[in-house]
Amino acid sequence: MKKNHQECFCALCRSPRVIKVSRELSVMNYLQIFLISALTVYLLFPYLQLKSLLVIPFIWGSFEAVKKLLYRRDLKCELCGFDPTWYKKDVKLARRKVEEHLSLNPEGQLLLKRRQQAQQFLSKN
Ligand SMILES: [Zn+2]
Repeated sequence: MKKNHQECFCALCRSPRVIKVSRELSVMNYLQIFLISALTVYLLFPYLQLKSLLVIPFIWGSFEAVKKLLYRRDLKCELCGFDPTWYKKDVKLARRKVEEHLSLNPEGQLLLKRRQQAQQFLSKN
């Protein structure tokens, strides 16, 4: 059976992560795009005629954008705030975002410290 989520580890703090939203549009999304497009074209056709077909790429683009946004929101580590997409684009900015996230979330900082202490303890013994 195909899993509807992806399991991985955070590249920075090594905490286990689950990514639920896929980057690609699902069959269901294509069906939604088709239905919304068909309805919009049907409603706009008496006023715009063939120009009403131009809403299709617009609707499709909106779906892609929302999907990408949800995927990126899912990708960011909840514990340390590390975002691989920012890291790929701008390492300094990604670092600043992690620092910001940690300063706003003292619990995450505490957990990270405990994990580091545990790792140090395990490597010594
Ligand atoms: Zn992390």
